[in-house]
Amino acid sequence: MSVIEQVIFVGTGCSSNTPALKCLLENPPTCEVCLLSLTEEGWKNRRKNPSVLIRVRDHRDPNGRLRNILVDCGKTFYQSALDIFPRYGIREIDALILSHGHADAVLGLDDLRAWTSGGTLQESVPVYLNEETFAVVSRAFPYLVSKANATGGGEVASFQFTVIKGNEQFEVAGLDITPLPVHHGKFMSTGEPYWCFGYRFGKQLSCITDANYIPPETLEKMKNSEILIVDCLREAPYMSHFGLHQAIDVVKDLKARHNYLIGMAHNLEHEDLSQRLSVFAKDLDLHISPAYDTLKVDVLADGYVRESSWRE
Ligand SMILES: [Zn+2]
Ligand SMILES: [Zn+2]
Repeated sequence: MSVIEQVIFVGTGCSSNTPALKCLLENPPTCEVCLLSLTEEGWKNRRKNPSVLIRVRDHRDPNGRLRNILVDCGKTFYQSALDIFPRYGIREIDALILSHGHADAVLGLDDLRAWTSGGTLQESVPVYLNEETFAVVSRAFPYLVSKANATGGGEVASFQFTVIKGNEQFEVAGLDITPLPVHHGKFMSTGEPYWCFGYRFGKQLSCITDANYIPPETLEKMKNSEILIVDCLREAPYMSHFGLHQAIDVVKDLKARHNYLIGMAHNLEHEDLSQRLSVFAKDLDLHISPAYDTLKVDVLADGYVRESSWRE
């Protein structure tokens, strides 16, 4: 069985990032977290759209390079990629897995031309996504779904799309991947939930980038994960995202050994949140902290982790 050896947080903010433009455009700006994020000591508050890179040792090629599975590729992917790929010596993207069709999850697709144009790094990027997300991508990027729709010099990213279902496992680099369907807000017109997919990677990791509700049958599929990555937008619950206490409830429920919050908006300050979470961590006897952009987590053979960032 393939194993995850490394998890890198490409982006850990919400759709509008931190600093939030609206805060800096105030005259004068008053938002303490956004102002702090501009300083050298406050850099962990600079957060871009949520995205995670999962690095896997393929059991069929144990001496080969780690395989790179990217979860989501949103509006800020280009900037994040500049901060991550060269700094950590990462090149290929062996698969891109999309959670849903919102701008902060898919709008970076166009920038993947850097990987495939002229076959620089690879011929194409395999993309796994649900039907609804594929419809969004087809409308937003018709030339990425079919080159017949390209109009320029044809220097566009090349993808192999696989449409997946919520109840079917698939496999990348010898790792079983299980979709984790969750609610991420609802349609205003009908009140029906908007479904987003989290994913479970092998036995080790469950990752929910965007959710305001996890159905019991999905929670069941997340049990006994060693690492949990879970959405936490702000202090209070929000219509389409978990608030802090909801995220902590999921952590309490699943009791993974290592827990990381992702998707934080500008009103959660990194150091303050870390300290508050450390109290819960002590009570629950597990590790829980806010992730930050560029955080690299090495997953050790004994199940422990080692955290670092090139910025430190
Ligand atoms: Zn702000
Ligand atoms: Zn979303």
